[in-house]
Amino acid sequence: MAKYSPNIWQNCATCEFWVGPRRPDESGATAEVDEAAQGKCILRGAHAEKYATNTCVGWRRWTALKA
Ligand code: SF4
Repeated sequence: MAKYSPNIWQNCATCEFWVGPRRPDESGATAEVDEAAQGKCILRGAHAEKYATNTCVGWRRWTALKA
């Protein structure tokens, strides 16, 4: 299990548009996710399969995480 802070990692794991297996940690500062987890990007379309570690210019901070 990896932890990604949106202040450092602007990847799918910390992005508002990613639908995949993840959760905020207890403090709400990082996203906890399996590094190999796959999900979908709702910004790029229903069939856009993305790994938690993928990145793109459309990134937006996951609102479940503290700013
Ligand atoms: S592909 Fe880009 S917009 Fe989509 S979930 Fe990943 S970082 Fe966010």
